[in-house]
Amino acid sequence: MGKIDLHIHTIYSDGTFTPQQVVQQAKKLNLVAISITDHDSVRGIEEAMEEGKKLGIEVVPGVEMSTDVGEDEIHILGYYLDWRRKEFLSKLDFFQQIRIERNEKLLKRLKELGMEVNQGELAKLAPKSVISRLHIARYMVKKGYVKSIDEAFEEWLNPGRPAHVERAKVSPFEIISLILETGGVPVLAHPFLSRRDDLIPKLVEAGLMGIEVYHSTHNLDTVKHYTKIAQEYGLIITGGSDCHGDNKGERLMGKVDVPEEILWELKKARDKVLEKIKLFSKKDS
Ligand code: AMP
Ligand code: MN
Ligand code: MN
Ligand code: MN
Repeated sequence: MGKIDLHIHTIYSDGTFTPQQVVQQAKKLNLVAISITDHDSVRGIEEAMEEGKKLGIEVVPGVEMSTDVGEDEIHILGYYLDWRRKEFLSKLDFFQQIRIERNEKLLKRLKELGMEVNQGELAKLAPKSVISRLHIARYMVKKGYVKSIDEAFEEWLNPGRPAHVERAKVSPFEIISLILETGGVPVLAHPFLSRRDDLIPKLVEAGLMGIEVYHSTHNLDTVKHYTKIAQEYGLIITGGSDCHGDNKGERLMGKVDVPEEILWELKKARDKVLEKIKLFSKKDS
């Protein structure tokens, strides 16, 4: 049985690997399939697919969308969506704009707190993507404002800390619909990080089809817990490392054991979504 990794970031969000490097690394690790899941971006997919063809690695198109419920961030993964569709791409531009506006306020706040940020230097850490909080945390380490990325988040950037600035809120229900409309399979990312199990029934009602049971932050008990929830709600199980290259210390790709058979279930879910879209378009015509 082959191994896969369905949650990986590239330089098109807050990872440090190019899409080509991701695929090359996957080859070295003997993975049979990977998914590129950048935050609110699909710019790495085509490059990864091309490299995948060369090296014989299956590349699943994916995206990770940031959404909010109250003060909590809920991340929704979308797999196999029609990532070239114009309507979807313009939505992504809008979500990136939200992050850009948040960043302006965040940098102003850091300055007020005595941590001046040179925008040119910061931009060098994210040459191909919108700046994320992870890039800002790395910059803070580089400047000696904090000792570690963890400290940057725990002392300054996390909700409730002095440099936390809210983004305009995006609803997970709206994003689940958007992914379904775009032909994708919506999956709840790293549920243990958001700790909002109470929302799962509502998300399922909105069309959620899967849950990321295997993740680098999940231990055996967490895996058992979410496997049970998956069974209870008829959700498919997915998994991935959430590798950010060198941006979070350890290179996580392939460190989470995810069996290939998960991909077969994901493909069945994709076929269901496409079938529904076909039915609807027949009704309309
Ligand atoms: P943003 O979407 O711009 O708010 O940036 C959030 C990103 O920062 C996430 O995608 C994570 O990669 C990273 N991040 C969030 N919290 C932490 C944390 N406590 N430690 C390390 N990285 C984090
Ligand atoms: Mn990230
Ligand atoms: Mn996430
Ligand atoms: Mn992620």
